[in-house]
Amino acid sequence: SMATIAWIGLGLMGHPMTTNLVEAGHTVRGFDLSERAQAAAVADGVVGVGSAAEALAGADVAFTMLPKGEHSRAAYLGEDGIFAHAAPGTLLIDSSTIDVASARLLHDEAAAAGFEFLDAPVSGGIAGAEKGTLTFMVGGAVEAFEKARSFIEPMAGNIIATGGPTTGQAAKICNNLMLFINMVSTSEAAVLADRLGLDHEVFYSIAKVSSGDSWPLRTWYPYPGVVDSSPANRDFAPTFTADLANKDIQLALAAGEETGTPLRLGEMVQGMLQQVADAGQGGRDCSIVRQLVDESFPS
Ligand code: NAD
Repeated sequence: SMATIAWIGLGLMGHPMTTNLVEAGHTVRGFDLSERAQAAAVADGVVGVGSAAEALAGADVAFTMLPKGEHSRAAYLGEDGIFAHAAPGTLLIDSSTIDVASARLLHDEAAAAGFEFLDAPVSGGIAGAEKGTLTFMVGGAVEAFEKARSFIEPMAGNIIATGGPTTGQAAKICNNLMLFINMVSTSEAAVLADRLGLDHEVFYSIAKVSSGDSWPLRTWYPYPGVVDSSPANRDFAPTFTADLANKDIQLALAAGEETGTPLRLGEMVQGMLQQVADAGQGGRDCSIVRQLVDESFPS
C-alpha cells in the first residue's frame, strides 16, 4: 500500500532514488540543504519542504542519503533533527555510507529514543539508483528489516540483511575498498594498453569478457568514447566524486587500523584520491585518477 516517506538528502543518489519511490506511488516529502538539489527532485515529483521536521510530518518511514557520518549525525541528533521530530513508530533508515562508529551511535540513540533504526547503505552507483537496481546492505533488528523491505523494493535489485547494527556499513566499506582499488587498477591498465598501441575499444572489449573484468571497467572505462556511462566522456563530471571515494577508502583504512588489518593497496589508492583533492579537483569523478596515471591531470 502507498506510504508517506520522508527523505533527507536529494543529491546525486537521493534524487533518482526518490524518483523511483514516487513512480511506485508513494508520497515523498523531501528536504535538502541545497535548494538546487531539492528543486531537481521536486521536478520529478517529490514534495519539497523546508526542513527535516517538515519532511517527517505524517511519515511512515524516513530515509537519509547524506555524504558522511558528520552529516548523518547532524540530521538525526541535532535540535532540528529526526530523533527530536519523528512521530513515535516512524521507521528510520540511513542509506548514507558512513563510519561504523557514527552508525553505532545512531543505533544507540535511536534505541534510547524508542525508534527502530537501520543502517542501509547502497551499491550500484547513479545508474543503479536511476534504474531501481541498487543493492541495499541492511544492518539492524530483523523485525525492522522486514518492515523496511516494501519501502526499499522500488529502489532495489537486491535487499540483503547483513546482521546486527552497523553490519550494513561494514559490508559497504569492504565492497568499496575493492571498488576503488579496481578503479585504479582499470586506470593503470587502460593507460598502459593505450601506450602499447592498443585501441581503447579493442582492449575494453577483451577485458570485459576476460579475467580483468570489473564493475569500474564496465561503468567508468576512463577514456572517452568507449562506455556511455563513463565520466571520461563528460570531462569527468561526477557520478561518484573523488571526495566521496576518498572518504570511503578512509573508512576502510580506519577499520583496518581498528582491526589490525594491513591494507597496503587501500593506502595507495587513498594517496591518489588525496592528490586529486589537494589539486582542488575532488568534486570531479573519481575516475579522473586515470589522468594521474597518464600525467594529463590538470595542475
Ligand atoms: P551528494 O553530495 O550528491 O548528495 C548529498 C546531499 O545531502 C547534498 O545534496 C547535500 O546538500 C545534502 N545534505 C547534506 N547535509 C544535509 C542535511 N543536514 N539536511 C539535508 N540535506 C543535507 O552525495 P551522493 O553521491 O548522493 O551520495 C550520498 C551517499 O551515498 C554518500 O554517503 C555516498 O558515499 C553514498 N553513495 C554514493 C554513490 C554514488 O555513486 N554517488 C553510490 C553509492 C553510495
